[in-house]
Amino acid sequence: MTRMAARKRIALVAHDAMKPALVAWAARNRDVLARHDLWGTGTTGGKVAEGTGLEVTRLKSGPLGGDQQIGAMIAEGELDILVFFSDPLTAMPHDVDVKALLRISTLEQVVVACNAATADFVVASGLLEAAYSPVESEAAHAG
Ligand code: PGA
Repeated sequence: MTRMAARKRIALVAHDAMKPALVAWAARNRDVLARHDLWGTGTTGGKVAEGTGLEVTRLKSGPLGGDQQIGAMIAEGELDILVFFSDPLTAMPHDVDVKALLRISTLEQVVVACNAATADFVVASGLLEAAYSPVESEAAHAG
């Protein structure tokens, strides 16, 4: 079974200190991202859309439940990639939501990039624009 289509479903999230870096990354990769479907937490989604002209479906702001909405989409098999520029130097009031989001992403074999270097590698991967089915995921769900 092919789980990821060639056209990927990508969620974008950045903590406040990291938003400029995510907007810059999205701008650098604008042409590639335009070939995929994008979601974002409220503020991040707005800034990426404004800074790049890309179409981004905006969810609630992260601290108000946006991270949980993305987690729910992942649990339903509705996202393939999570680009999440988290702030490693600041405590977050919604830290539990962040932890839950990373846990469900790990479980569901979602491709996760937590910094620009990893996100660059994801964009450079030949798998980004290919159909792909993670073998481990199928094994886990079969059990
Ligand atoms: P925001 O949420 O894009 O609405 O700021 C991101 C987060 O803090 O999880």
